[in-house]
Amino acid sequence: MASTNELVKLSASQMAEKLKSGEVSSKELTQAHLNVIESAEPSIQAFLKISGDTALEQAEDADKRRAAGEELPELSGVPIAVKDMIVTKGIETTAASKILEGWVPPYDATVVEKLKKAGMPILGKTNLDEFAQGSSTEHSGFHPTNNPWDTSRVPGGSGGGSAAAVASFEAPLALGTDTGGSIRQPGALTGTVGVKPTYGGVSRFGAIAMASSLDQIGPVGRTVLDTALLHEVIGGYDERDSTSIPEELPKIVKAAREGQKMDLKGLKVGVVKEIGGEGFQPGVKARFDESLTLLEQMGAEIVEVGAPHFPYSLGAYYIIMPSEVSSNLARYDGMRYGLRVMPPEGVPQTAANMMAYTREAGFGDEVKRRIILGTYALSAGYYDAWYGSAQKVRTLIIRDFEAAFEKADVLVSPTSPTTAFKFGEQIDDPLTMYLNDVATIPANLGGVPAMSIPAGLSDDGLPVGFQFFAPQKRDDVMYKPAAALEAALNEKWQAPLWSNLKTPWLDSANQTVEA
Ligand code: GLN
Repeated sequence: MASTNELVKLSASQMAEKLKSGEVSSKELTQAHLNVIESAEPSIQAFLKISGDTALEQAEDADKRRAAGEELPELSGVPIAVKDMIVTKGIETTAASKILEGWVPPYDATVVEKLKKAGMPILGKTNLDEFAQGSSTEHSGFHPTNNPWDTSRVPGGSGGGSAAAVASFEAPLALGTDTGGSIRQPGALTGTVGVKPTYGGVSRFGAIAMASSLDQIGPVGRTVLDTALLHEVIGGYDERDSTSIPEELPKIVKAAREGQKMDLKGLKVGVVKEIGGEGFQPGVKARFDESLTLLEQMGAEIVEVGAPHFPYSLGAYYIIMPSEVSSNLARYDGMRYGLRVMPPEGVPQTAANMMAYTREAGFGDEVKRRIILGTYALSAGYYDAWYGSAQKVRTLIIRDFEAAFEKADVLVSPTSPTTAFKFGEQIDDPLTMYLNDVATIPANLGGVPAMSIPAGLSDDGLPVGFQFFAPQKRDDVMYKPAAALEAALNEKWQAPLWSNLKTPWLDSANQTVEA
């Protein structure tokens, strides 16, 4: 018997140990998180859908498998939340869009199949900006999500729901999707760890497509080791995804554990000169510089590297991404899924009119803006000038990464220019909103892995993120210094960052759970 608060404040790997020793059951652990969800949701609103009953059934099943002596992965029995951009058989999946309201997928994404196989109960589906388009979760078609550090502020986006759920102890782990930063930037704004794996390293089968050449599913957690464990559960080749890499995953968990020894001798850390100048909050820069010192103290050599084309990343992204969005979102036509709006009386009842009325009613303003931008960039006469040029810039960015990784083993930068901003502050100014991802987008254009870890609090008392990039297919390479830096920061603060979070919702959730 344990209290809800004691259980949910453990890291996922500590939960796994307690499950293994029989100190807690998966059912207890899952119930504890459902208790927190119940008391936290009125103030946090991280979830679009809570699947408590099926989660408890899955937990019971995980307990039975363990009792039967089945060989199980480490995270077996540890519950998880899933971004509503990832399809779940039998559980409504909307991508936070009215156009998919009520759609219940007939199949599971590969990553969801893998969670089930591993025996990880699914607590529910988390909120996001509609079709993962945004940096604040204010563009959700249903409701915003609040930042657990200050509920008058955004949790970042698009994966604000997954980040807020993990930060508020509603879930120990979550899945996100990252097209331009939607795992890492919310990670920075909520003090969680967020990882965008190598493109092709985790199957995209069943991830609702936003911009297919950039989209990647990845783990969200409170510790580096927790995300490493989850990365190994969801990663690896999948024949149902044509861009999946037909190779073994590198040894990610091993690298994270190695990092915990805090010895980085021989590691070259490259500071990207082009990221972190104008527009970056002083408190963000200060935490970044302190972390560099800690890396150096653990034996890493810090060098400066140039990536001359990174300043063009944002421009290239806002041509390539909307082009792919306009094409991917053409499938929501009122014929196949979710919403259908018929034209009003007096308007010809044609298929084309039905599609127009459905898309007008079903999509929000930001999604419409991107469909229009993308359609324009791809139209005859403009294709080469816009899309063609952006693809050339993309190639130059890939070359920048290749050249930089000749000089350093990992690259680093702040994750996000600012800490969490207030609701309404950026929503009417799309260009300002787009700047949130200035540091994260290069990784998506280059297909390289990148992750954000919490690097302390800025002067405003809000979390700051520190970003690592590694070469393609070498996700393990960034986990080692990330785990080392996390350990050094914990030593410095004498506790993990999240122990500073005030959690009034846990007080009302604190009940004793029994399996
Ligand atoms: N914030 C970025 C955008 O609005 C990234 C989105 C994402 O990674 N899904 O496009």
